[in-house]
Amino acid sequence: ATPMSVMVGVGKAAEHGILIRQGEALQLAGQIDTVVLDKTGTITEGHPKVTRIDPTEGVGEAELLRLAASLEQHSEHPLAQAILAAADEKQLERAPTQDFEALNGMGVRAQLDGAILRLGNRRWLEAEGVDLQALARAAEVISNQAGTPLFLARDTQALGVIGVADRIKPDSRDAVNAMRAQGIRVVMLTGDVEASAQAIAREAGIDEVHANVLPEDKANIVSQLRREGRHVAMVGDGINDAPALAAADVGFAIGAGTDVAIESASITLMRSSLNGVTDAIAISQATVRNIR
Ligand code: ADP
Ligand code: MG
Repeated sequence: ATPMSVMVGVGKAAEHGILIRQGEALQLAGQIDTVVLDKTGTITEGHPKVTRIDPTEGVGEAELLRLAASLEQHSEHPLAQAILAAADEKQLERAPTQDFEALNGMGVRAQLDGAILRLGNRRWLEAEGVDLQALARAAEVISNQAGTPLFLARDTQALGVIGVADRIKPDSRDAVNAMRAQGIRVVMLTGDVEASAQAIAREAGIDEVHANVLPEDKANIVSQLRREGRHVAMVGDGINDAPALAAADVGFAIGAGTDVAIESASITLMRSSLNGVTDAIAISQATVRNIR
């Protein structure tokens, strides 16, 4: 495309809330045949809420939530925001912790009263030697309802599980259908567990799902698709999506997402709707056609 027609295309995209950083991305967008979507904050609203609190024997619900909020007070993850909002609603005081650490795709850890507290997914806590058997039933109920179970442990002692659930954006399903109508293969990637991932995928009308994906593996999956000859767009909102956004032919960051995601992507969707992806593809194709 000529520089002039690209400028026109970029301007047209901007009118649709699609901010294109380099003209090259506009031209690449027209060739996309595979769209890889992050789940949390991309297909879903990204404002999850606490839906269930299941402590183990001898632990109170308020105590479980208070400890979880104490751990999450320095985290920016959407799951942390859900825990903090629930604790604030019940006016629970957060305890000061030491040595806070957020482990991408696993959870958060900090010291409190000489013990190590951990809040995160089953795979990580079990690898740390925590027996979660007593919480298996509660966790199953949470995931079958499209929620994410977050387990809390003090050292190796399980204290309980908290269910956090997010809603799918009202137009995600239509956007996925529109992508299909453009002949595009749609794939969902998430660090979340299989059952929760499948429940959201069903609602969005996506049948190709990779769950339990660590952040570095999101980028590997994108690169693998490219090696297979696909022209890949990645759409994401989080720090954990940044490597995959950079690895794609075209990275789309959700405008309401984190700065790191926006910096790693070549296109930002100011309206946070997945319809921006199909709009960008259509505008790109029209731009390239016009100059031929
Ligand atoms: P997604 O790919 O869906 O955006 P992430 O890679 O950010 O998900 O997280 C994957 C999983 O890691 C979450 O489902 C959760 O179990 C755990 N996790 C990540 N960050 C946190 C946190 N701040 N608190 C608790 N659990 C977390
Ligand atoms: Mg996300």
